[in-house]
Amino acid sequence: MKRILTLSPSLAALLRGVFCAGALALSGLGTAWADDSGAAPPPPADMLPPIPAIAGAAQAQQFTLANGMQLIVLPDRRAPTAVHMVWVRAGAMDEVDGTSGVAHVLEHMMFKGTKTVPPGEFSRRVAALGGQENAFTDRDFTGYYQQIPANRLAEVMRLEADRFAHNAWPDAEFRKEIEVVKEERRMRTEDQPRAVLSEQLFATSFMVSPYRRPVVGWMTDLDAMTPDDVRAFHRQWYVPANAAVVVVGDVDVTQVRALAEKYYGRIPARAVPPRKPRAEPVQVGLRRIEVKAPAEQAFVALAFHVPTLRHVDALTDEDRDALALMALSAVLSGYDGARLERALTQGAQRVADSADSAAMVSGRGPSLFLLMGVPAQGRSAQEVEQALRAEVARIAHEGVSAQELARVLTQWTASTIYERDSLFARAMDLGSNWVLGLPLDTEDRLLALLRSVTPQQLQQVAARYFGDDQLTVGTLVPQPIDPNARRKAQAPAMGGPIR
Ligand SMILES: [Zn+2]
Repeated sequence: MKRILTLSPSLAALLRGVFCAGALALSGLGTAWADDSGAAPPPPADMLPPIPAIAGAAQAQQFTLANGMQLIVLPDRRAPTAVHMVWVRAGAMDEVDGTSGVAHVLEHMMFKGTKTVPPGEFSRRVAALGGQENAFTDRDFTGYYQQIPANRLAEVMRLEADRFAHNAWPDAEFRKEIEVVKEERRMRTEDQPRAVLSEQLFATSFMVSPYRRPVVGWMTDLDAMTPDDVRAFHRQWYVPANAAVVVVGDVDVTQVRALAEKYYGRIPARAVPPRKPRAEPVQVGLRRIEVKAPAEQAFVALAFHVPTLRHVDALTDEDRDALALMALSAVLSGYDGARLERALTQGAQRVADSADSAAMVSGRGPSLFLLMGVPAQGRSAQEVEQALRAEVARIAHEGVSAQELARVLTQWTASTIYERDSLFARAMDLGSNWVLGLPLDTEDRLLALLRSVTPQQLQQVAARYFGDDQLTVGTLVPQPIDPNARRKAQAPAMGGPIR
């Protein structure tokens, strides 16, 4: 997880979608675009750390199997292990009203067997291979993975291909599992006041885009869900041409390709169903919501509509603005002691106990820039709201220095380099890049691209996107906590995928 790109753990879990894999922190572009605006240049190269090349590091290779399924392989021979993932380009945003949450319910049911593998047997076999496994559902995708000794790859490929093509279970298994999913919703959303606020903030910011619905689904839809709803979603979207197999680790590309053709390539090809665009219309006025819930502290979150990063080469104006917004968020909250922390949470007159920002500019759907904070004792949510906006306005008026920008880029570079050490993180990056239609080396390109962002570009986006008309403000109004209420669940652990 790139801290610079994302929220603090708890907020990220809340706002990105409870089942977020956390890896969607996006990324961008090889060659820097020419800045012909006559603007101030980006930080000089000697302010920035070098981007270390990994000597002899292999590049990911991508193949199309006979049935249209994608295979992405990245050899990394530092340890005799491998990560095997299947990514399906279908998540909560592919659901329709009345069956919200079905992508995630299906993810659970994928562990409940096939024609030849009884319920629970999949996980027992993976464990017997010495592997670890899990799965994750997000707005944009669903994924399944195993971390295994590299020499057991063929076995997990066979198992995974089988459930991709032949997932099948009796209705009784569904009736048990849907209760597990509802309990998940109670623990991660309904018992977490900030999660309730975040759910309603998205439902208000978006009216047409399917991003308005929570990944876990509305409780009433879960109550009404049927086994056939889940089977239909599987039949509709678990199509070879709508999926990618990602393998990272101590593997030989030619062998992996042969195995993939053997196990996955035989699944019959089918057409990917057409998708309706469901584009969000332009918001034309401030929206404001309140959520009353038992809580110890208030909380306020501001969501501004902003452009999405759709390309990391042949950049459009929107791509450039999205990149500058990522840098803006990093300047605001991307490192310890960044602007929001200094301005809002320090000193005797501090307004907030915590403050954060997030440029959620990657995704198949529309984007939001979030500002959020928890009022300090004796301070109001309104004061925090004003203070958050004042920090953005300050950048719009005064700009940032090249040194400050260089500092966040240093942080970014460090976290990207650090992430290269994790096979799992590499596989997550490759899968999310494929889902979003971005080049496989997007993280590297993004590092280079962000270095070309100028202080002037930051100033421009701070001035352009933070008015009232495309803003939704959500405020949690704390209510007394009933000491006899059911225990609060622990917030989900951050970063790792959650099943
Ligand atoms: Zn789940």
